[in-house]
Amino acid sequence: MADQGPAIGIDLGTTYSCVAVWQRDRIQIIPNDQGLRITPSCVAFNDIERLVGDAAMNVFPMNPANTVFGVKRLIGRRFSDPLVQRDVKHWPFQVICGARDKPMIDVTSKGQKKKCTAEEISSMVLTKMKEIAEDFLGVPVKNAVITVPAYFNDSQRKATRVAGYISGLNVLRVIAEPTAAAVAYGLDNMFSSSEEKNVLIFDLGGGTFDVSILAMDKSTFKVKSIAGDTHLGGEDFDSRMVNHFVKEFERKHRKDLSNNARALGRMRTACEKAKRNLSFMSHTTIAIDCFYDGVDFQCKITRAKFEELNMDLFEQCIGHVDKCLKDAEMDKKSIHDVVLVGGSTRIPKVQQLLQDFFDGKELCKSIHPDEAIAYGAAVQAANLTGQGNPEIQDLVLWDVTPLSLGIREINDSMSVVVPRNTTIPTKKEQGFTTTCDDQTSVTFQVYEGERPKASDNILLDKFVLSEIPAAPRGVAKINVRFDIDANGILTVTATDRTTGNENHIIISNVTGILSKDEIDRMLDEAERFKLEDEELKKNFDAKNSLENYVYRTRAAFFSKNLACELPASEAKKLEDEIKSAIEWLDEHKDIQVDVFENKRKDLESIWNPIVSKF
Ligand code: AMP
Repeated sequence: MADQGPAIGIDLGTTYSCVAVWQRDRIQIIPNDQGLRITPSCVAFNDIERLVGDAAMNVFPMNPANTVFGVKRLIGRRFSDPLVQRDVKHWPFQVICGARDKPMIDVTSKGQKKKCTAEEISSMVLTKMKEIAEDFLGVPVKNAVITVPAYFNDSQRKATRVAGYISGLNVLRVIAEPTAAAVAYGLDNMFSSSEEKNVLIFDLGGGTFDVSILAMDKSTFKVKSIAGDTHLGGEDFDSRMVNHFVKEFERKHRKDLSNNARALGRMRTACEKAKRNLSFMSHTTIAIDCFYDGVDFQCKITRAKFEELNMDLFEQCIGHVDKCLKDAEMDKKSIHDVVLVGGSTRIPKVQQLLQDFFDGKELCKSIHPDEAIAYGAAVQAANLTGQGNPEIQDLVLWDVTPLSLGIREINDSMSVVVPRNTTIPTKKEQGFTTTCDDQTSVTFQVYEGERPKASDNILLDKFVLSEIPAAPRGVAKINVRFDIDANGILTVTATDRTTGNENHIIISNVTGILSKDEIDRMLDEAERFKLEDEELKKNFDAKNSLENYVYRTRAAFFSKNLACELPASEAKKLEDEIKSAIEWLDEHKDIQVDVFENKRKDLESIWNPIVSKF
């Protein structure tokens, strides 16, 4: 197993991502090129290059229409999905409807219009996380476990696997974020005890909220129930503050900002920072110079106002906790520990409401809220590749189905075969029959969701069982079996019990809702971007090297006082040449690497013999 190379765990977050690896008998959270342990899940396009992570986030206020973030909210969803419709209205970048109702992100990259899928943008973030790990470990990294919110349905999980595939990763497994957090918590808190505990993981991040109850002992982690909202988190709290200040600005200055993406982008950045401050301070000030139409913006906000703006959202979180307990058929007293995960759990009001709900119980803050998920994913990656110590090798994770799975009946009702929150892997069977006389084939449509009408749920796939012997309606006995493996991959098999005739579909595979051609195109583009990035880096390096050389020579010219040492005409010539080289550099910003290299060689051959004499 060792020759598989290191296997990493990636928390692919809505706002930030984090990568970790098992190394030297413990988990290491891997810092990025800025030395930071979390990296913004953000991609920016401009006239010269594509930026990912912190670099992309930094240019957001200057170029909001081409800075893409939060695509986890789009992945695996249809454009017409009401939640997608709600999001696209608030984003400064444009999302349009592509073929087969797929949301496409419309950006301008290097002067050209470009349409990207959410899988493609996510793959760019995953590639960045892979590179961060490779730089740290000094070896290529292929294998990864990626986390997804527990509430992600089949197509969202599938799309996340596709993103991993495009980024060149072998996705060992996609696991639920709370399960990963529970593993991180368990490693720190359970290895000394063999008693079983019920742990509630409260994970409030940038874009999603997950609450889960797990029963765990030293080595077994079994999800009992999950609840939450794929559209609730820190960004919503930011939006409430942005709306508040936009109204405030309009009231004070009679100027409407609502269609100015740049101003709104700057306001959002300032509000996010203010929100963080309010977790530690009772009030803070937002100040943006030259905010709009030459007007500066400055305004105070108290923690109490922030809480008032978001109270209904905070209360929704507590409602989901209650639902999760009900689903698990548990009383709140049977929860041993409440574990906080996700950046937004730092908000004091959220903590207070949760603590009040649990009758004053102390909340567990021992695991790092930003890193726990990547930590748990890396443990699972080590477990699956036979790395790590014996304690890790003994770990067994039991996930649950996030949504009910079933077959559409003739009257459009949803016949549930696997109820939500069923522990996986699982096998469930149900009997079906024909609905017309002499019917010789039946189409099975597999749906996912909780609504009683199948058409209100998500159609995963369909298949036909044919060659059923002709008989009056209701006579044929057809058995439908749902098999879900540990990866959440669903196989549905229909068998005619009279003839033994069988047909099946495998729902989860790497191609998912994208065609093979589309995935191939994305792979080609990912490769092209990689080559362009490498080329650009070489270009910057060559330009830097030339710039360094010119400025070093200028410094030497003045420090060694060459103007006095050299004959006047020669000194004047050298000074003019240095000046013109600096002008040349200012004018030639985006040219080929060999032009910079040749220029440096030319200058060296003229200047070195002169400067080295002194
Ligand atoms: P995550 O998705 O877990 O990385 O969480 C990111 C979210 O946590 C973002 O919306 C951040 O603004 C938010 N966040 C991070 N630190 C704080 C803090 N000190 N107070 C409030 N929210 C925070």
